[in-house]
Amino acid sequence: MKLINAYKQKIRQNCIDSRTGKTDRVEYWQDTLFCGTMEIMIPLSLIAVIPGVIFSFTSKVPLLAILDLLAFLWLWLVGFARLPSVNTRKFLFVFCLYYVASYMLLYLGINGPGLLFLFAAAIFALLILPVSYAWWWSCINLSACLIFALVLHWDLAPFAVVNEIPVSEWMVVSSNLVFLSFTFSFLLPKLMNGLSGSMEKQRLMQMDLYDKNSNLEQYASIISHDLQTPLRTISGFLNLLEKKYGNSLDDKGKEYIHFAVDGSAHLQHIITGLLDFSRAGKYDAGKFEEFSLREVAGQVIQLLKGQLEEKAGEVRCESELMLFSNRSAFMQVLHNLVGNAIKYSRKDVPPRISISVQDGIADWTIKVEDNGIGIEEEYFEKIFIIFQRLHSRMEYEGTGIGLAIVKRIIEKLNGRIRVESTPGAGSSFYFTIPKQND
Ligand code: ADP
Repeated sequence: MKLINAYKQKIRQNCIDSRTGKTDRVEYWQDTLFCGTMEIMIPLSLIAVIPGVIFSFTSKVPLLAILDLLAFLWLWLVGFARLPSVNTRKFLFVFCLYYVASYMLLYLGINGPGLLFLFAAAIFALLILPVSYAWWWSCINLSACLIFALVLHWDLAPFAVVNEIPVSEWMVVSSNLVFLSFTFSFLLPKLMNGLSGSMEKQRLMQMDLYDKNSNLEQYASIISHDLQTPLRTISGFLNLLEKKYGNSLDDKGKEYIHFAVDGSAHLQHIITGLLDFSRAGKYDAGKFEEFSLREVAGQVIQLLKGQLEEKAGEVRCESELMLFSNRSAFMQVLHNLVGNAIKYSRKDVPPRISISVQDGIADWTIKVEDNGIGIEEEYFEKIFIIFQRLHSRMEYEGTGIGLAIVKRIIEKLNGRIRVESTPGAGSSFYFTIPKQND
């Protein structure tokens, strides 16, 4: 297994140009196709060499075995030798196919796989090499067919049986190959250009979206920052008003002041929430570190100690998992989820919260499970949208920003989040953290 992985890694390293290593470029997919072809073809050609060698000895043409072995060696060099560029490898690969086609034609004529190899060479070349060379391959095929017609005409093939093929028969068969080669030289570049164009469009749209997003983030950050100062003044004066003149006001007046104080406190929460939201996910990649899930859960429990004691709640985390991610971002995620699990507990049922881990192929899935009020299935997506709440503030205090922040952080950390829940029984939030975070 280790050997196979090392083999694949070496081929990948040699056959995919790291400079075009972006999935939004056609060149990347051309390299990937070439890499996949090499990965399969090297071991397969080794298997194909065996019947070739046997045939060459039974039909007393040892040269055929040597030519077969040379083709294998050629392929091996394309995959593993030190060569100046990936394109050089691709050209050598295509010429290796032409080489195989030539000796197959010379030794086996129309009955051998020579014609198939000619066609395959053109198709591979069209798929993996720049489209600017598209007409080369059909022209090479045309020339190869003409040269072979001359070989037949002058009886130059090393094998007598091959020389017996009438030139007219060869012309009929090979003209089909030439026709198909030209058709594909015309069609495949159209496909490649179309793909390249739509990928480029998508890339530009993504960049535009990124720009707009960061402008919006900046905007939200500035607005919420600027709103904080006048809001603090309003709250301060409202509190003063209540303290100083509270006694001289009638019940209605006291109630109005209470509403105003409460409203400004709520607005304050929204503004801080918005600020947190605009900052969420803006992390320094250098701040990625290894940390223990249990340790971070312990810190979150400490921060939420008051709420937990108030409801006689309990949080359990027995995992020994070590994560590699942004510790403070991860802590905020856990803090929001556990905080919600305590807040949305059922009346007279003490919250029981458990944090556990599931092992995936490329990532860890962290599960935060509670025995709270639960969520109806139709709201599973909605709750992650900013300002979307399922309850009034009279029922449960909140701003509807917490889960939006969680989702944003998780996505910035290259993960995903989802919820499963049974109303009246509890909810489970699942989020993933990549095992390797680049
Ligand atoms: P907030 O708690 O401030 O309302 P959130 O974004 O954290 O905002 O949550 C959005 C909504 O999702 C909440 O209003 C609540 O209805 C629902 N919710 C979140 N967590 C839970 C949970 N553990 N159990 C039940 N409902 C939840």
